[in-house]
Amino acid sequence: MKHKSEVDKFEFALDNPVFKVISDILDKNKKEAYLIGGFVRDLILKRNSKDVDIVIVGSGMELAKQTARQLKGNIKVSFFKNFGTAMFNYKGIEYEFVGARKESYSRESRNPVVENGSLQDDQNRRDLTINALGISLKKENYGELIDPFNGLDDIKNKVICTPLEPDITFSDDPLRMMRAVRFASQLNFNIDKKTFDSIKKNKSRIKIITKERIIEELHKIVKSPKPSIGFKLLYDVGLLELIFPELYKLHGVEIRNGVSHKDNFLHTILVVDNIAKNTDNIWLRWAAVFHDIGKPRSKKFVNNIWTFHAHDAIGKNMLPSIFRKMKLPLNDKLKYIQKLVALHLRPIHLSDSDITDSAIRRLLFDAGNEVDDLMTLCEADITSSKEYKVKKFFKNFAIVRQKLKDVEERDAIRNWQPPIEGLEIMKTLNLPPSKDVGIVKDAIKDAILDGEIENSYQAAHKFMLNYASKHLNKE
Ligand code: ATP
Ligand code: MG
Repeated sequence: MKHKSEVDKFEFALDNPVFKVISDILDKNKKEAYLIGGFVRDLILKRNSKDVDIVIVGSGMELAKQTARQLKGNIKVSFFKNFGTAMFNYKGIEYEFVGARKESYSRESRNPVVENGSLQDDQNRRDLTINALGISLKKENYGELIDPFNGLDDIKNKVICTPLEPDITFSDDPLRMMRAVRFASQLNFNIDKKTFDSIKKNKSRIKIITKERIIEELHKIVKSPKPSIGFKLLYDVGLLELIFPELYKLHGVEIRNGVSHKDNFLHTILVVDNIAKNTDNIWLRWAAVFHDIGKPRSKKFVNNIWTFHAHDAIGKNMLPSIFRKMKLPLNDKLKYIQKLVALHLRPIHLSDSDITDSAIRRLLFDAGNEVDDLMTLCEADITSSKEYKVKKFFKNFAIVRQKLKDVEERDAIRNWQPPIEGLEIMKTLNLPPSKDVGIVKDAIKDAILDGEIENSYQAAHKFMLNYASKHLNKE
């Protein structure tokens, strides 16, 4: 199928000297090769892509070797024998060469039996029509779009659709269900009805996919301009419950005595959209995903109102096991998100005019360098539909930000550490390593943050002796 007008559009991209070299080699060897997949899709969508996939009917390794030899500069080709692929980097772009494949799948695994195939075979095994487009690099029809599944129309109409019967495509490799949702989220496309219904039907097949692959797709959803599209789709097709039950459990509204609470799932994904407008920090975006995760466990109906008391602390404590299960990193990123989840209710209380500096100092101390990210999260958390309420909250947060700035300028609390450390407490008070050491340490910290004593070594030392004589060794 030829789309002449599209070919003009590609002209600039097809001027690439690497493609010209490949075309010459193909001509000499009477072979055929095509640009394929994500690169072609992104070319049409005018998105940047840093990798180019080239499929050849024959050996990808051989074509890569010959191409690299003819390009200037000593280009190093990497070979991945197991996958039959070869790759090199040229001027910051990765070129990957692979032989056209025909695949057949068994029910237990997403790893197919692979044989050499034609271009058509190779396009058949692709996940989505928008990812199955090829552009010929042969001399005779250089730049021609090979589009057996009308992927170009699907791009124009913003549709996600499988090239073959969706039940076959998804059952063969269930990761494709996640990819379908992820592309819908990244590109703001709709999933075609038949494809959508098939994901619903095949959702339980997701169990054969590793957690690592699933989280990779979730990261891409979280990174997309409007992540709620992806999360809502995951919910609607029934995948969310299987891959992220804690987030799923936030859904729904309960009514008692005519009193209801908001749907915390819809609220959460709105918060993620809000924060996505203000930050590309993927971990801050994940903090928004998790900020209310403790709500279902803390929910109570008391005195005719719904409360979610301590959902901040409960949420924080749920995170390590969720991270472990979902293969999210168990390092400083977990700590960072725990901190934001634990503190996300604090700033709102600090806008009242009678709030003392000590409360502000305490938040600065507890949030440390994360205080700006915390404020970004809190602002994203405002999702009321009532304009006057939103205005009021934003005004209050502006006040809190100003107070934080003033107090930080004066007292430099952000990276402050109390002037006396545990070791000195043990030596001076003759204490073994014990709970008492922590108690004294906290008391010194609190006294300074509350403005009870001056922020100096002398004052802290005097306070420590005094405190110990009053509160320790009193059995
Ligand atoms: P991105 O690079 O933005 O993640 P992409 O579509 O380029 O998106 P890659 O993982 O780079 O994704 O894959 C390149 C191409 O390989 C895809 O466009 C698609 O044609 C094909 N592909 C990738 N994964 C699958 C899969 N699980 N099933 C079928 N085809 C796939
Ligand atoms: Mg790619």
